[in-house]
Amino acid sequence: MKEKIHPKYDEIKVSCACGNSFLTGSVKKELKVDVCSKCHPFYTGQQRQAAAKGRVETFNKRYGTQS
Ligand SMILES: [Zn+2]
Repeated sequence: MKEKIHPKYDEIKVSCACGNSFLTGSVKKELKVDVCSKCHPFYTGQQRQAAAKGRVETFNKRYGTQS
């Protein structure tokens, strides 16, 4: 078995702009990303939740505070 076929492939820490960090395998030593699976709207649905919250607040402003 030859062991020099593959480049050095270590488990590294990936730092995301949201503050989350996770381990992944890479030939790089360090990795920084802007979005990860924890904060990406596609995965979290945050964008939809924010939009829904905005609609509720608009509703409350119009109808919720009348006495
Ligand atoms: Zn993130």
